[in-house]
Amino acid sequence: MSTFAIKNAIVVTCNENDEVIRDGAIIVDDNKITAVGRTKDLEEKIRECDEIIDGRDKIITPGLISVHDHVIGHVFKGFTEDGAEDYFYKHCFSMETFLNPENSYWFAYAGLMETLKFGCTMINDLFHYSQSTAEAVEDIGMKAIIQHKVFDIDLNNLQHKNYERFYDAGIKRLEENEELIKKWHNKADGRIKCWVGNHAPDTNSPELLKAGRELADKYGVGIHIHVAQTVQEHEMINNTYGMSSVKFLDSLGFLKDDVICAHLAFADTEDIAILERTGAKFAHCPVIMAKFGTFPRIKEFLTSKVPMAIGDDWVTLNPWGDMRAAIEVTRAVTGEALQYAIRAFRMMTIDAANLLNLGDETGSLEVGKKADLIVIDALRPNLVPMKDVIPSLVYNMTGNEVETVYVDGKKIVDEGRILAKDEIEVMRKTQSLAEEVWTKGGVWPE
Ligand SMILES: [Zn+2]
Repeated sequence: MSTFAIKNAIVVTCNENDEVIRDGAIIVDDNKITAVGRTKDLEEKIRECDEIIDGRDKIITPGLISVHDHVIGHVFKGFTEDGAEDYFYKHCFSMETFLNPENSYWFAYAGLMETLKFGCTMINDLFHYSQSTAEAVEDIGMKAIIQHKVFDIDLNNLQHKNYERFYDAGIKRLEENEELIKKWHNKADGRIKCWVGNHAPDTNSPELLKAGRELADKYGVGIHIHVAQTVQEHEMINNTYGMSSVKFLDSLGFLKDDVICAHLAFADTEDIAILERTGAKFAHCPVIMAKFGTFPRIKEFLTSKVPMAIGDDWVTLNPWGDMRAAIEVTRAVTGEALQYAIRAFRMMTIDAANLLNLGDETGSLEVGKKADLIVIDALRPNLVPMKDVIPSLVYNMTGNEVETVYVDGKKIVDEGRILAKDEIEVMRKTQSLAEEVWTKGGVWPE
């Protein structure tokens, strides 16, 4: 076991007092944080460390955590950002049928690379070929909660609003989710956990949702689901069941405090009360919502008891952009300058860890927690001068200022570069595999 210390840095703890320590230090022993405080108070302990790093002009924060992702969806980067919901149904869902375990591994790896280089150390990911995502997470050195994408409609039918059910195929996907749990839960030195991934209320029959609920109960793991994500889902659920997506899930006994609901764009006051009663949690994805032209009632959620954190979703995986969008789009849609930079930062650190039931081991820089942390170069024109540290970061970081990333005390990004694989090789491979998928999907060559 080796120890290292970083001293003379600004340390953003995300502890319960949101303490920011100027001239701070952190000591890591193997995979755990053993001391956090002012450098001068820790000098003696620092001297005993195997490695001492000068953190002058650096800011140390907890590794960022995104609570809703589909990293394999990286294949849709570059041509779906300028399309809205119809594009999503027309191209993405149908083109997902051209994925396979091999190309999915590389798309996942590329997606992880993007967000890791911006300082994200953990994701919560729901998609096809979930074992490929698990392999990529293990290889790159990050942490993840992973679910298999479970549904019982035909993805090619969705664009035509055709919801014909294929229940047996849905059960097969649920069995694949169970295999994922058996093979990967608590693997990669505990960095990977696996939950159940019923995709959405409209893409799952009530029977499949109930079967997903039973599987989660059987293994004592959580469920990750899209809820009230799109106009199409909202209308389908209302027309078919005569109620909102949240009420529909509640009527099935699906919602409990182990369920993370992504999006909730159409959740109204009654729905928010149901979430409060059941303990179900909210993964807010401000960037993709703004792209779709819809946005949840964030002002109401902020004052509700619904636990809430922020996710990247897909295609653009920049947690700093997400934090900004969470604040700025809320201001634009409410007409009020709600101020919550510190809360937004918590929603991608400690609140995110709590949402994933991992708040005891990650999400903040406190003694006894795993050493998941990032080191930021503070001497960048976009960060200087710096008075209030957290708002300065939230409103001004691009992500490229992240120099070093540690997960479980192990360095996995150094001087801004991924250590596990050659970045250029991954990028070239990703481009060529994506061109193959796009060709099959009829959108390539341009
Ligand atoms: Zn999503």
